[in-house]
Amino acid sequence: MPLNRALILLGPPGAGKGTQAKRIAHNCSVPHLSTGDILREAIASGSALGQMVKPIMERGDLVPDDLVLHLVEERLSRPDSAGGVVLDGFPRTLPQAEQLDPILEKRGLGKPLVIDLFVNSDALLRRLTGRRMCSIGGEIYNIHDLPPKVQDICDIDGGKLIQRADDVAEVVKERLEAYEHQTKPLTEYYRSHGVLEVVDASKSIEEVNKSVSEILRKRAPGCDGHL
Ligand code: AMP
Repeated sequence: MPLNRALILLGPPGAGKGTQAKRIAHNCSVPHLSTGDILREAIASGSALGQMVKPIMERGDLVPDDLVLHLVEERLSRPDSAGGVVLDGFPRTLPQAEQLDPILEKRGLGKPLVIDLFVNSDALLRRLTGRRMCSIGGEIYNIHDLPPKVQDICDIDGGKLIQRADDVAEVVKERLEAYEHQTKPLTEYYRSHGVLEVVDASKSIEEVNKSVSEILRKRAPGCDGHL
């Protein structure tokens, strides 16, 4: 059964949004919409959009709201989003959240369900600086907690593992600041709308997935996203 709504994963960089979003989207057969992935693909392709956002992302700042909203609206207008979607890394500012609401209404997806993945700052730094990504399929690893079977090689497609340009220590600091100032206030926005749930995301991937699934079972009967 489809999700029939938008699931928003909130939380700082390194909270595990991408890892959890991929699983839930796969298990519920709905698209995983990561604005960070879309922007990184634009940079890799050398498109005009990519050239514009590259310096912003390299600094660890947020790209302009209008631009991201346009990307999300386009993605949500495709037929495969009709059964719901998992949003990862979006919304990230209050204007993005406010403008997302009518877009979801228009698409018949109603109110989103929002899960805040909460992790303390020491664990975040370890996760972010240890994170490696497959250069082919985007699979996520961590040299400390989730290493590949063969060093620097993706278990799934043999792609070389790379470190994201914005996972180096100085940029991580900027990204965490952007999160504190611009994204954290969203938890209050969604709490006041009665759609916020919080999960302790310092636990293992399996345990976090289990907690997220329990919330989905309770609040969004349809698909619980659990394997
Ligand atoms: P992420 O992969 O979600 O950590 O995003 C990587 C970078 O992409 C961020 O540091 C921002 O520069 C940019 N980005 C991704 N999503 C958004 C968004 N919703 N609003 C503004 N900038 C974004």
